[in-house]
Amino acid sequence: MKIEVKNGSFSYPKKDRLVLDKINFGLSEGDIMAVLGPNGAGKTTLLRCLLGFLKWKTGETLIDGENRTNITTQDFWKKVSYVPQVREKPPAYTVEEMVMLGRSGHFGAFSRPGHKDVEAVNKALERTGLDKIAKRLCSELSGGEYQMVLIARALASEAKVLVLDEPESNLDFKNQLMVLNMVKEIANEEMTCIFNTHYPAHALRWANLSFMLSRSGESIFGPTEEVITEKNISDLFGVRAVIGQVESEEGKILDVVPVAPL
Ligand code: ADP
Repeated sequence: MKIEVKNGSFSYPKKDRLVLDKINFGLSEGDIMAVLGPNGAGKTTLLRCLLGFLKWKTGETLIDGENRTNITTQDFWKKVSYVPQVREKPPAYTVEEMVMLGRSGHFGAFSRPGHKDVEAVNKALERTGLDKIAKRLCSELSGGEYQMVLIARALASEAKVLVLDEPESNLDFKNQLMVLNMVKEIANEEMTCIFNTHYPAHALRWANLSFMLSRSGESIFGPTEEVITEKNISDLFGVRAVIGQVESEEGKILDVVPVAPL
């Protein structure tokens, strides 16, 4: 499924400054786009506009060429799934119940889940390796496990576009790898993924496209290796950084080392 933003601009009410100014990007099936920028640049605002939680001041979001505003909310959430940041304590639902919430757009508020819903939940649990802990309470899981539950909930919805807000923040190294590898696998299955991140190295490793935002509202979009450059990092983040290549059993991996503030 294609998702595009054309000429998107946004400012908060009673604020003169445009947080987002003439935003343009487009993704197709299999694409992963990382959204980067310093604190306050507008990464969260961008996701909120994209998902329709905030209204673009100018411009539009298109899903397979159709304007977001012409798609009903229920249809939109069947096409697009959102994985929010893990900020609050998880609810006292079991893993299975939490993943079933991803099906609510399919079976309606007053009906019970049907055979298809149970099947989609089981598939998402197996896919993410959560089938072994399906009966455990989310409130008793580690941060990494709970993040995976939120991804499984998105998979159960069978949406074709996945938007994740800092999916690896607050996770240790192993869980960061597991979560981002899962995003890559999902994209390989013809889904379109967008994630916000604080780590340029994660964009270089997992995203084929990148979108960089500056505090003055400017943006750069394109293939990751053209966007995540030492110059762009220094211009946008105000930091001198070195991009280097590391040899590993997994092949060559690019890393970004921040050297000094400018
Ligand atoms: P990021 O996610 O990149 O840190 P945000 O999207 O949260 O940035 O914020 C971008 C800018 O918009 C910041 O200057 C922030 O202060 C401002 N902002 C964010 N939310 C609101 C709001 N609800 N009302 C007014 N200004 C806001």
